[in-house]
Amino acid sequence: MSVTIIDGKAVAARVRADVKAGVEAFAAAHAGRRPGLATILVGEDPASAVYIANKQKACAEVGIEGFDNRLAAASTFEEVATVIARANADPAVSGILLQLPVPAHLDGAELVELIDVAKDVDGLTARSLGRLAQGQPGLRSCTPSGVIELLDDAGVELEGAEAVVIGRSMLVGKPVAQLLLARNATVTMCHSRTRDLAATCARADVLVAAVGVPRLVGGDWIKPGAAVIDVGMNRLETGLVGDVDFDAAAERAGVITPVPGGVGPMTVAMLLRNTLSAATASSQGDRRSR
Ligand code: NAP
Repeated sequence: MSVTIIDGKAVAARVRADVKAGVEAFAAAHAGRRPGLATILVGEDPASAVYIANKQKACAEVGIEGFDNRLAAASTFEEVATVIARANADPAVSGILLQLPVPAHLDGAELVELIDVAKDVDGLTARSLGRLAQGQPGLRSCTPSGVIELLDDAGVELEGAEAVVIGRSMLVGKPVAQLLLARNATVTMCHSRTRDLAATCARADVLVAAVGVPRLVGGDWIKPGAAVIDVGMNRLETGLVGDVDFDAAAERAGVITPVPGGVGPMTVAMLLRNTLSAATASSQGDRRSR
């Protein structure tokens, strides 16, 4: 069976190009005003600083206005809350992203909840996640919606499909499962206490691994012809590897994402799309997402 390897970079580039065109159209319709993304970084964690720099660069490339807020590592909860409140109130800011993790003396989850749901482009507030669970419109978290975008781009039929998601985090596993359910897949969620993970995965027409265990998913776990999406990003001395044993799984899968170059590039692309969506909804006075 020949496998199709999904090119996440190419799909992300298409999403970015669409967003760029959408931003131009938005600016033309709003007297040159552009969607704006406020990023908030607390502290000097080098990896977080790289992520923020990448997001700001990606904004500039598609014409989204970037507001790069940097706070000292010792900032108090109130100081961070003040920056969030200012961004909530600023009409030039369409979306707000608080880079996680925040320093240990701060409660990142509590700070995220201060973000206006209409500007929650990371889709991580309880209201955004609740709206997803309720099947209401709203901003969806970026990596999970990137997973669906890749499946759609590859032409994978989700309606009625047997989908298995390994991992139940609020960041990835749970929202991916909700998005698959919303597309009428029959969804099974697996986690560290699942009894027979291999047998459950072997039923999957669509298998999404979001675990954080290098090459956990073996080739014999894959149903022949299945779509396999590997969200895992595990840094080993030999480089970045996913949660799926790619070479073995590719022998049986119909479509599969590599690591790197699969899901990874989608996260920032979906963030840009969410920022444009938030700007559009707010300019249309769409109160449904509030
Ligand atoms: P997480 O919060 O650590 O959650 C991991 C999940 O995997 C948990 O639900 C856990 O089960 C489950 N699990 C752990 N070991 C397992 C095992 N042996 N068998 C079955 N299930 C197991 O991780 P996360 O934030 O969801 O991230 C998952 C992976 O995705 C990581 O590699 C991360 O780096 C990657 N990631 C990538 C992107 C991207 O590509 N842009 C974005 C986010 C995350 P319990 O709930 O029972 O503990």
